[in-house]
Amino acid sequence: MVLVKTVEELKKNLKALRKKGSLGFVPTMGALHSGHISLVNQAVRENRVVVVSIFVNPNQFNDANDLKHYPRNLDADLKLLEPTGCDIVFAPEAREIYPEPDTRKFNFGPLETAMEGKHRPGHFNGVAQVVSRLFEIVEPGKAYFGLKDFQQLAIINKLVKMLALPVEIVPCDIIREKNGLAMSSRNELLSVEERNNAAFIFETLTKAKNLAGTKNVNELENWVKENINKNPFLNVEYFEIVDFENLQPVKSWGDKGKKIGCIAVFCGKVRLIDNIVLN
Ligand code: AMP
Repeated sequence: MVLVKTVEELKKNLKALRKKGSLGFVPTMGALHSGHISLVNQAVRENRVVVVSIFVNPNQFNDANDLKHYPRNLDADLKLLEPTGCDIVFAPEAREIYPEPDTRKFNFGPLETAMEGKHRPGHFNGVAQVVSRLFEIVEPGKAYFGLKDFQQLAIINKLVKMLALPVEIVPCDIIREKNGLAMSSRNELLSVEERNNAAFIFETLTKAKNLAGTKNVNELENWVKENINKNPFLNVEYFEIVDFENLQPVKSWGDKGKKIGCIAVFCGKVRLIDNIVLN
């Protein structure tokens, strides 16, 4: 495994490695945990060569304070990556990714107006900028993304279609702590007490899945919000039940297609997201 920090070094290393065959890519913002590592393991199983990027993309943070406090620990990340068998870790500075300010504006239509898009203005535009830039640099055959960031995955699928990029997007299952809390780099910012209470998010989502037939959609959305807000450590920003494909609000259980409940919750100052497929 080699660590490279510039686009030039990356391209030099990839020139020889590409000859081995298929190239898998896992973009991350570092502060790695078992969720990230499961993506890397899958990429290693399915490709001859694997690149992992570690880059905290300033363009996708709509809150300067969030960017400032985002956890970073390259040494610990490298220790976790070493045993996976990935070939290259690309950890660039911002000037490598954005030699010029990226002023591109993407339009994802209804995919970006709800949920994360609504509460984090500009976030998905920044995600699209960095992902398209990274794809341009790495030129992967397959790229691996977690279902934990469900709306992000929908945006990236759309981006790939819009730009006709020659890359297959591979969705990967959500990896959870033993207590059910979805793994996240942001969990590092929680106190032990907060982390224990944050498990109540998934506990409630699991109950909601079982209640899905017994309450109507709107009642269930309200029940989830009220139930989680009863926990003094938690404060729901949104919980929406949407169509799995187009992310439009579900009106009734009779609507066709798969349905997913997506949630954002503040645990103290830390914003956590999760989701659950409801049918
Ligand atoms: P991040 O470093 O938060 O940008 O995440 C990098 C990639 O890892 C994204 O595709 C995430 O969806 C994915 N990821 C983060 N947490 C998890 C998790 N708990 N389970 C599965 N994938 C995850």
